[in-house]
Amino acid sequence: MKSTRVLVTGAGGFIGHHLVHRLKAEGYWVRGADIKEPEFEPTTADEFELLDLRHWPNCLQATRGIDQVYTLAADMGGIGYITSSLADIARNNILINAHMLEASRLNGVRRFLFSSSACVYAGFKQDEPDVAPLREEDAHPADPEAGYGWEKLFTEQLCRYYFHDYRMETRIVRFHNVYGPLGTYEGGKEKAPAAISRKVALTADGDEIEVWGDGKQTRSFMFIDDCIEGLLRLMASAYREPLNLGTDELISVDGLVDLISEIAGKRLVKRHNLNRPQGVRGRNSDNSRLRVVLGWEPKTRLRQGLDVTYHWIAEELRRSGRFVPEPVYAAAD
Ligand code: NAD
Repeated sequence: MKSTRVLVTGAGGFIGHHLVHRLKAEGYWVRGADIKEPEFEPTTADEFELLDLRHWPNCLQATRGIDQVYTLAADMGGIGYITSSLADIARNNILINAHMLEASRLNGVRRFLFSSSACVYAGFKQDEPDVAPLREEDAHPADPEAGYGWEKLFTEQLCRYYFHDYRMETRIVRFHNVYGPLGTYEGGKEKAPAAISRKVALTADGDEIEVWGDGKQTRSFMFIDDCIEGLLRLMASAYREPLNLGTDELISVDGLVDLISEIAGKRLVKRHNLNRPQGVRGRNSDNSRLRVVLGWEPKTRLRQGLDVTYHWIAEELRRSGRFVPEPVYAAAD
């Protein structure tokens, strides 16, 4: 594997950083590219280039001498962020992805993996909390998330065109809510598990916690280690069509708050804010095809993954002097 040269774009971000680490452990030569360095610990990549991949010459530079590309660079964040600027997010990501595909082709990249999202799925199939798990074909007829989802759906199509016209081997993964340590937990780009963990860690026992929406909206969440395992398996597979990568352990947002509060040892009062965005009513992953194609599916139970994630965020906040400890109850005499 030492002879396989891999590029990870978005290597300064959450999934990209973890992926670089795993690829290095597997013996690959790895180049990372991003507009920023990883936030919480140094990269383990052989080379790390600070490049804005919206620009064509930078994509050519990033892909020189590369065999495999994992494209994880994207302008993205939680539901608050992706609904806040539709034009900028869609434009930034289409520039990154269109240029990365063409630069990879010109530089003779052998495999190109695109990170798509469950946001491509049709909104009208996700209007109940008790939602039917989404199969890959449920992305059509198209009604994806505005801006971010439309861009992902179009880039999936572009990957197919690159195979059709140039026989460039492309892989397309549709992530369903990835969480874990070393992910953003504040600043506006964080996703629900990290945002709720932060709020729980910063709230005193018995106090109120703000929950976006009515809390009945449902999702499934995948732990980062499973995400990375799935990425390597998909890259190694012969499968070119879009593939779900997620869990089918459905939970409501209220349930997520309760679970994290329990892990933290705090009893909190939920205050629902109906003025904040909450996304689709329900979303779950149908893993039937994943099981067939990869002979595997994510294994980490939500409680187990959240335990690790919450304690990592709590420790970060403790170090910055902001953590509010759980109460210590005296044992009954
Ligand atoms: P992230 O925000 O942590 O990482 C994305 C990285 O891309 C960031 O480090 C960012 O600096 C970089 N980037 C943004 N614009 C860039 C540019 N112009 N040039 C170079 N780099 C740029 O996000 P993540 O959670 O690691 O997501 C990785 C990929 O997976 C993205 O494509 C995202 O859309 C997709 N995805 C993630 C999830 C999830 O739950 N995390 C869900 C669905 C899809």
